[in-house]
Amino acid sequence: MAEVTIDNLTKEYGSIVATNDISIDIDDGELVVLVGPSGCGKTTTLRSIAGLETPTSGSIHFGDTDVTDRAPQDRDISMVFQDLALYPHMTAAENVAFPLHADGQQPETTVRESVEEVARATNCEEFLDKKVVDLSGGQRQRVALARALVRKPEVFLMDEPFSDLDELLKRQLRAEVVRIQKDLGITMVHVTHDQEEAMTMGDRLVVMNDGEIAQMGDPDTVFNEPARLFVATFIGSPQINRFDCRIAGDRTLTDGELELELPADAADVLDGATGEAVTLCIRPQHLSWADERPADSLAVPVSVNVIEKIGTEDIVRCRTAGGTEITGVVPAGALSFGQEGYLVFDPSQLHLFDGHDENAPRLN
Ligand code: ATP
Repeated sequence: MAEVTIDNLTKEYGSIVATNDISIDIDDGELVVLVGPSGCGKTTTLRSIAGLETPTSGSIHFGDTDVTDRAPQDRDISMVFQDLALYPHMTAAENVAFPLHADGQQPETTVRESVEEVARATNCEEFLDKKVVDLSGGQRQRVALARALVRKPEVFLMDEPFSDLDELLKRQLRAEVVRIQKDLGITMVHVTHDQEEAMTMGDRLVVMNDGEIAQMGDPDTVFNEPARLFVATFIGSPQINRFDCRIAGDRTLTDGELELELPADAADVLDGATGEAVTLCIRPQHLSWADERPADSLAVPVSVNVIEKIGTEDIVRCRTAGGTEITGVVPAGALSFGQEGYLVFDPSQLHLFDGHDENAPRLN
């Protein structure tokens, strides 16, 4: 297994800058997820690691070895794409053994042992002798994983492999991939546009936007301390509440409708002048409901507009008198449509950003 070091990687396609000077250090045995919206440069980064793209500038090392100019077959990587590219009329075992046969150097008994070992790790044993056409989507996914892992690659790359699967299967396979990755200690880079998948799988996330890295960090840090406004709005479900404000006083922000008076310690970071742009964000999970306005709290009067049931909790979409939408999460059945009251902000969970632009840096 290997560390992967990406240094100042830029890839241009004509006038399009797919990745702009990005650097990532991936530890040996680490699972790093590249996550971001469509077109942000995730696949280009992954394909550059694989050797399927030649960087315009920058370098890629596996351990101490510079692999920037090496062909994919000389890099000791395996890759699983959304299109699994299995051979449908071969059995699962024949598919898994294929890379070993292609190497042509191992005796048949060794090939069989390797196939059985990887089949155990990926839970493929039961259907090894079935043809791929006769397997379910989840079983095919496991076969593709087994085939990618059978050569014990130094670096394992996955590009949106779960996007065609139903929600339940997706969850099972995510957990299984993480287990396999940890059991085998593989260095793995996984690409997804799905922030929930990224949060549940990654040791570390690389949140990308517009060809650049918006933030790199473990899932808790990215969720609790988003470094830029883009990260705050991209990570988390339901989406974070966002108030595009201007500084109106020492502790007061206004978004044109609401006057939001910050707690003293949160307001400490507001060193801008009156009128300067600041964005205040708070996650729906960090708002609570009160029927009466609580004293000494940041609270906004609203009425309940939509209730979405998600099990033990309800997502409530509320509206202020001026039409601002604010989303909260409350215990199931706690509120009813049209109910009036206050959404109370947890003062320790406010996120402040210096401006309204998606690149606006965190202030607190
Ligand atoms: P998606 O989730 O949609 O796959 P992504 O984050 O993986 O998106 P990339 O596929 O890396 O993004 O693309 C980044 C940018 O580079 C996009 O603007 C894309 O249109 C462009 N791009 C990617 N490959 C090529 C190519 N072969 N030729 C021209 N432009 C390309």
